[in-house]
Order: sequence, then C-alpha cells, then structure tokens
Amino acid sequence: MKTQEAATGFNSTNIADHPLTFAFHFFSFSIKMPFPEPFLDRMKSDMGQEFPDFLNALEQPAPVSIRLNPAKGLVAFSNAEPIPWHPDGHYLPERPVFTLDPRFHAGGYYVQEASSMLIHEALRQTVGLGQDLKVLDLCAAPGGKSTLLVSALGRAGFLLSNEVIQNRVGPLKMNLEKWGHANVAVSNHDPEDFEKLAGFFDVVLVDAPCSGEGLFRKDEDAARHWSAASVELCSARQRRILTAGLELVQEGGILIYSTCTFNQQENGDNVEWLASQGFEFVKLDLPETWGVTEQKWGYQCYPHRVQGEGFFFAVLRKTGGSQAIKLKNNPPKDWQRFPEKQLSIFEGWLSQPSDFAFFTKPDDAIVAVPLVLADSFFTVGASLKRRSLGLEIGELKKNDLVPSHTLALANELHPDLPKADLSKDQALHFLKKENLWETDWQRGWTLASFEGLPIGWMKVLDNRSNNYLPTNWRIRMDL
Ligand code: SAM
Repeated sequence: MKTQEAATGFNSTNIADHPLTFAFHFFSFSIKMPFPEPFLDRMKSDMGQEFPDFLNALEQPAPVSIRLNPAKGLVAFSNAEPIPWHPDGHYLPERPVFTLDPRFHAGGYYVQEASSMLIHEALRQTVGLGQDLKVLDLCAAPGGKSTLLVSALGRAGFLLSNEVIQNRVGPLKMNLEKWGHANVAVSNHDPEDFEKLAGFFDVVLVDAPCSGEGLFRKDEDAARHWSAASVELCSARQRRILTAGLELVQEGGILIYSTCTFNQQENGDNVEWLASQGFEFVKLDLPETWGVTEQKWGYQCYPHRVQGEGFFFAVLRKTGGSQAIKLKNNPPKDWQRFPEKQLSIFEGWLSQPSDFAFFTKPDDAIVAVPLVLADSFFTVGASLKRRSLGLEIGELKKNDLVPSHTLALANELHPDLPKADLSKDQALHFLKKENLWETDWQRGWTLASFEGLPIGWMKVLDNRSNNYLPTNWRIRMDL
C-alpha cells in the first residue's frame, strides 16, 4: 500500500540513526543529510548548555497531533494525551494513515503540530474567544491556523483567509470547506494588494514564510534549502509582508506574527521593528509547565522543552494609526439577489435559512452570506478582485436544488436531512467515488455519513445511487 507519507520519500524511522543527521530515501538507497553546520554553530552559541538536549530532540521523530473541530462534535481520541494549551488538541501515540480515516475527510479534525495551537491561547488572553471580530489570516495556506482562528471565533466573527500563491489556494479552500464554517472568505492576493482594507481588521495573523529551522526534523527540504543567505532573504520578505500587514489592523487591534524558525533576524528583529511602527508588545501569561521560552520580543518553542515543532510567535497591539474603515453594504455587482418568493427552497437544507441572504453568481452557483456579517463580506468583495465569498449552496435545476459538496460539509446543514450511515469500508469506497447502494436508503438526495459526519452527497435511485463527490476530492490511494 502506497501512503502519501511514503510518496514523499520520507521515512521517519531513519531519523535517529545517526547523530546530527536525518535521512531521506530515493529509490532503494538512502542519503544522509546533515543539519547545516552554520545552523548548528549558531544554535550552539545561542543555546549554551541546553544545546545537547536541543540536538537530541531534533533527532527524535516529530510528535503527531490533531485538533478536533468543535463545530462537528466528533467524539474521538478521548484517550489520547491532551495538548495543555488547546481544549481540542491531542497528541497521538503514532501517525495513522490519515487518508484512510473518513473522519479526516469530513473535517472532524485537522492534523496540526502542537506548538502552532498556542495561537488559540494568544487570542484567549488578548481579544477573547467567540467574539464578533474581523480577522485576517494573511499567509494562510494550507489552512491550519485559519481553521484554528475560525473555531476560536465560532459563528460570531468574520475570517478572511488569504494566500498569495495561486496553486495553494485550492488546498486552502478544501480545508476550510471541510471545516464547515459559513463565516469565512478566501482570497488570493499579495499583501500589498490590501490597501483598500487598511484599518479593517481587529486581528491580523502573519504566519510568515520562513527559513523553517523549526521543521528540520520533519521536513528534509527545509534543511536542504537552508543557508545563512536564505535567512537574510526570509527576514527581508517578512519585513515586506509585515509592512503591508500592519496597515490593515485597526487602532487597538492586534497583530500576531509567527514563524517556525529559531533565528533572531526572522523573529525578534522583526518584532522589535514592529514595536517602532505604532505597536506595543503584548506580554502573555503562559504557565511554566508548558515549556515555552519567553524572549524579549516573543515566545519560542524549542523541541526539547515543548512537545511540538520550533514555533515562534509574538502578539502586538496597535496603539495609533489606522481608524476603522466605512463598511460597504452592497453585494458584488454581478450577484443577483435570490427571489424572495423562492426562498422556501432552502428550508430543509439549512438549519436556519433565515440567518442568511441568498444570491446567484454569474456561474449560476447560489451562495449564502450570514446576514450579521454581510457588510464584512461585501467590504472584502468590493476591495479585492480574487476572492470567494459566501457559503456555496448549489445550483437550481428545473427549480430543484442540486446541493454542492460544500453544503454537505457545512456546519449549517439541516440536521434532519436523510443520511446513509456507512461502515468505514463503505465510506472509503464512497471517497474513491464509487457508487454504493442499499435497499433501505432513502431515495433522493442522501448524505453519505461516517460516525455521524457527512462526507458527501449521493442521489439514491431504486436500484443504484450516483456519487456526487467532486472528482478532485477523490482519494487516490489504494485501499
Ligand atoms: N498559516 C499556514 C498554516 O497554518 O497552515 C502556513 C503558512 S506558511 C508558514 C506561509 C505561507 O506564506 C505559505 O502558504 C506561502 O505560500 C505564503 N507566502 C509565500 N510568499 C509570500 C509572500 N511574499 N507574501 C505572502 N505570503 C507568502
């Protein structure tokens, strides 16, 4: 059986078999890849006596952790070790093949390294959880922190999840669709394109592209591409992203800066610079038992102290500058408001259709925008060209709704829709886009479900069913 993990050529069982090295495989032979010497020299001088422990931790396999989706209510991993700083986070004793877990495809949980989940605690201690906030994740793909942010908002706030690199937007959207929230918009822009949204956001997260020193033990590419020059380049790029990002925060709002690297140029220096640009450093209260190292300009996770990767983060509050901008309350010009007298179509599909405004886009897709957040969606719609707004519901065909896959995964789905409870084996065959059928399944649109979580639509006929899983969502692995 060929797993996704194997397809990368990376075999974690070889990580620890040579000091200062990790291994990757190419066909049948393995090449030892040393950690870069200048990196080790610098860490030795930065860490002093702790260096041997640090190095030893780098030679161990990376811990595996997941974060449950509270909106989906999956009951699982209850015996797994909890992550102290996130109520939904768990360490797993070993790495399962996530592709073969239907609950993963249903958005029941996200696979995320544990240190990154500290962002949840940073929000809790600063702006609070479940608040009506406008949040921007400026460097969002593949979406780990976006799913964390939107869970921290619940249904109350608005998240704009942005990714500049076009081919990373698809995976980002997929992960957010699985997560199921209707209060998220996705955009595909360079941070410098956001000038019309200056002062719009209460929270901006810049989870910056970095030299990746904190990922060396799980990503051989990070070590292979590292050089002192790449650290300089990353630091300059981060400064450019932050220069654009800091304008987007409204006065009193917060900017969270994070990387997965250890060096001063990319971390502390950038935060110190932010503190000279109308921001003040916000100190957090993190229990000592968590092992996070407090530095002058931020918080660093080292792998010998924290069970997770080398994450760095800092929270800054904007003390002056941008005022909140005036919000727009008109939908995009090419959207048609859905006719009032046809709105009853959505009853039975959504748990609270009256919470939404419905529109038809030029490609005939119907989207639902949460009424209480419509001005945020429309302001983003009027300010950015490449964006997707609203929960995609489906299309009308001869006055009947053909529901979208996004709707199958949405947290707003009506709980009484017909469901076919599949075994794990059936669910995996459904996810391979095979047509399944059982006599007692309700005819018509039926949710293929596993352990109560929808994974897609089937149209059940008298002697067969049609599987409506989009082809690009299909799992390619052999079962
Ligand atoms: N926040 C993501 C998560 O938790 O899943 C990880 C983000 S990753 C550390 C950094 C992201 O920044 C990448 O998706 C990368 O494509 C994007 N990026 C690269 N260059 C960029 C630039 N010049 N401006 C903004 N984002 C950039």
